[in-house]
Amino acid sequence: MDFQSLKNIDVNGKTVLLRADLNVPAKDGEITDTTRIDRLKPTIEYLTQKGAKTLVLSHFGRPKGVTPEFSLEFMLPALEKSWGTKVGFAKDCIGAEAEQAKSNLQNGQITLLENVRFHAEEEKNDPAFTQQLAALGDIYCNDAFSAAHRAHASTEGLAHHLPSCAGLLMEAELNALNAALENPERPVMAIVGGAKVSTKLSVLNNLVKKVDYLVLGGGMANTFMYALGKEIGQSLCEKEMAEEAKAIMNTAKAANCEIILPVDRVTVTEFRENAPFEIYEADNMPSERQTVDAGPATVEKIHKTLKNCKTVLWNGPLGVFELKPFDAGTNGAAQAVAEFTKSGKIVSVAGGGDTVSALEQAGCINDFTYVSSAGGAFLEWMEGKPLPGVEALSSHKKAA
Ligand code: AMP
Repeated sequence: MDFQSLKNIDVNGKTVLLRADLNVPAKDGEITDTTRIDRLKPTIEYLTQKGAKTLVLSHFGRPKGVTPEFSLEFMLPALEKSWGTKVGFAKDCIGAEAEQAKSNLQNGQITLLENVRFHAEEEKNDPAFTQQLAALGDIYCNDAFSAAHRAHASTEGLAHHLPSCAGLLMEAELNALNAALENPERPVMAIVGGAKVSTKLSVLNNLVKKVDYLVLGGGMANTFMYALGKEIGQSLCEKEMAEEAKAIMNTAKAANCEIILPVDRVTVTEFRENAPFEIYEADNMPSERQTVDAGPATVEKIHKTLKNCKTVLWNGPLGVFELKPFDAGTNGAAQAVAEFTKSGKIVSVAGGGDTVSALEQAGCINDFTYVSSAGGAFLEWMEGKPLPGVEALSSHKKAA
């Protein structure tokens, strides 16, 4: 990937339009998880220390026009606390309010501009709107990997108008993803779990061509078991996806990718926390039961295979991790990946919404090489799709 790094740019006295992703989870006006804000701190510190005048751009939610409950203003105390610096606010991201905010900025100061999605032109990547944004800055710095799968004015369009670079978070994210899939040390294991095959079909089709081992877990493993003619009982299964599952297995075979399915399964008759459970070998499951987790022999098999791997890429839980004790398979596999990462034997990269909470629950989130906070963008990258926000940084005028 060919993009300019913020670290190589002289930003002193320049106005930098920093596209951040402040689309944080919030309830009743309170931010419930500040991970995305905290991860921007290195970029913010860099810009303030180097004397940039920083205007922060972000979306929040899906407002239809100007909608007070989607204003970014309520975030200011959280931003100031996390970033350790004062943050100003402008009530609009273009026009007189934004111009005024720009002219008030001194070197090393930061101002947050109001939600870019208050203008419908943002999502349309409207050239006139993009130009109005571009007129505010000297440099465009994109630090919002998690929004890079959208070709919007502030995520893609701006790179065509201003000298551009990747922020420190975006750079770390791209380097980690590159090390995991584009240019990895082999053998590579991908672990893909989650509910359904249908939502991850493109991910699976891409991965089988690129990795050496593909571990399948969660509900989607049932569909593969079904396609192989195994009993799946009452388990979640997309029977209509059986042909796709077979095609994926054939592609894997041709590409020399070994698909690892559960060798044992944790099964229940009631779908609830602490439901009584029984563990069955994969080939021996009673038809009245349903699978909720990978069993200990499966975790052991993953552990053994990991010994032979140099890189691991993970998306999706191996079981219904929200209901204890059916997080045991996910936890066991996550702890194995963490153990090998800590001892320097593997590079491990994980991402996607539920994956982050599953790894947090497993107590492993800090022991992976990199855990991406991106959801949709991470999945699209795993699908092998070009991300417009990243592409635009690579192919257009780079800041010097
Ligand atoms: P996804 O968003 O596709 O990554 O799916 C995550 C969801 O898959 C979680 O809510 C899990 O509870 C669910 N899941 C994982 N394994 C199973 C399973 N064996 N049966 C039903 N749901 C599952």
